[in-house]
Amino acid sequence: MLPYATIEEAESAVGRGLTLAETLWFRYSATKSDYFLYCHNVVFLFLVFNLVPIPLAFAELTHSLGLDQYKIQPKVRLSLTEMWKCYKDVNRVFFLVVGPLQLVSYPSVKIIGIRTGLPLPSRWEVLSQLVVYFLVEDYTNYWIHRFLHSKWGYEKIHSVHHEFTAPVGYTAPYAHWAEVLILGIPSFLGPALAPGHMVTFWLWIALRQIEAIETHSGYDLPWSPTKYIPFYGGAEYHDYHHYVGGQSQSNFASVFTYCDFIYGTDKGYQYHKKVLGKLKGMNGGTATGLNGGKSDCSSDEVKSD
Ligand SMILES: [Zn+2]
Ligand SMILES: [Zn+2]
Repeated sequence: MLPYATIEEAESAVGRGLTLAETLWFRYSATKSDYFLYCHNVVFLFLVFNLVPIPLAFAELTHSLGLDQYKIQPKVRLSLTEMWKCYKDVNRVFFLVVGPLQLVSYPSVKIIGIRTGLPLPSRWEVLSQLVVYFLVEDYTNYWIHRFLHSKWGYEKIHSVHHEFTAPVGYTAPYAHWAEVLILGIPSFLGPALAPGHMVTFWLWIALRQIEAIETHSGYDLPWSPTKYIPFYGGAEYHDYHHYVGGQSQSNFASVFTYCDFIYGTDKGYQYHKKVLGKLKGMNGGTATGLNGGKSDCSSDEVKSD
């Protein structure tokens, strides 16, 4: 809730005229409580979880939109029944864990100092904070993910997320409820270290989920804008992690590639790419997908991880 009754009051407090975005923010948020504004995250997350995966899930089920050529594991397709089961499970965890977690975590948001007032942050402030949030999330998630691949972590928790060896967008949040809880920590750590405006926080939570859906999409789309982000892992990178499955000791990072490079956990993937490149050369460029050449190289690459 904003401490100004009118736009004029807000303008005199800020010391200048409000921008269009600030005027819209004032009209929308002035009489709403900070808790209510924070709870918008539940709606945003629900919409992202449910709507963003639709186009590529449709392409997966119907072989349409001309996207088959970009499918990373072309020999593995989820049926409608399998996708529906995944969708139902994801929504069950959403309503039992993700939503309630958002609703009860409000005090921590107040403690770290997420603000709702005016002025709104500049574009550069938003952008620089988002970069920090992604870097912090990526680094922390990397180590938690490695822990989840220990014998105990995998058997008790992480094996659920690996049920799908050829992921689709809806499998991004498909995980044991404990994993959903644990991986809330890396998502929250960035905003705790560099707290910003509620709008930035909304954007961060939505973008992080959209990024996870893209890396689980099962399609390596050459025109994806994420191709221009330095050291970005992307769909093919994380798809390999699922393709190798429970034995995987490669490609742990959630967003970027540098942690796996620095800590030497991308060797299996690099070996696989090399073998796939050779096969591609021998077959005149046809072995494009991960399991386009699976029978020729999968056993060696698992050993090499
Ligand atoms: Zn994993
Ligand atoms: Zn995954």
